[in-house]
Amino acid sequence: MRNYYIAGNWKMHKTRAEAAELAKALAAQLKDGKHKYLVAPTFTSLETVGALIKGSNILLGAQNCAPEEQGAHTGEVSVLQLKDLGVHTVILGHSERRHIYKEDDELINKKVKLVLKHGLEVILCVGELLEEREARKAEAVCETQIVKGLAGVAAADLGRITIAYEPVWAIGTGKTATPEDADAIHAYIRKVVEKRYGAGAAADLIIQYGGSVKPENAAQLMAKENIDGALVGGAALKADTFVPIAKFG
Ligand code: PEP
Repeated sequence: MRNYYIAGNWKMHKTRAEAAELAKALAAQLKDGKHKYLVAPTFTSLETVGALIKGSNILLGAQNCAPEEQGAHTGEVSVLQLKDLGVHTVILGHSERRHIYKEDDELINKKVKLVLKHGLEVILCVGELLEEREARKAEAVCETQIVKGLAGVAAADLGRITIAYEPVWAIGTGKTATPEDADAIHAYIRKVVEKRYGAGAAADLIIQYGGSVKPENAAQLMAKENIDGALVGGAALKADTFVPIAKFG
């Protein structure tokens, strides 16, 4: 039985005071929420937000980390530093990291393994560009990103992996994949995982959908058999829009 998992990615938004205001509102308004919740503020707000959601039902997430534990890596943040702040999960392979900052599957895989090694969870984002969808390559792109992203990850660690399917053309654009289209890719992703890790692991895998999820479309997406939650960007920036998504249905 899979539990729904709703995560908010705050991206490069909010000062500490603004992040604190949102964290307080979410902790109060999601107190009676039934699902698994996570917020991923900017690095600079992790400590502030972490203190405010401590003891609540909201987990602390980071949006990225370095592929190395420590050393001469100017501008990077180590998983050890994130762990020290109480971070529970690291989002890796987000399309903005892949396409703006040119992170490839090998780099993402290195980060995945490092985060798992230090006991944290991972949300691994995958998804195709518009031209890849139009060329009917969506499944193949997701398969490659999953196979390469999880290379060397042991079956025993798969329980700490969540996959977020985020078609790049739907992120921040207001365009959402139809629940049917999203569900079809989610089902395919589950098959890819089944081939490598077995039916039990695939059945337990949480696969979030991401891409312009809003209060108006959350319930229809979540009603689909293979959609187990959401990774939310824009609508995660306000309690007024994130809470109804988090409490969909
Ligand atoms: C995201 O960045 O992960 C995302 C899904 O953004 P949005 O909800 O704004 O499309």
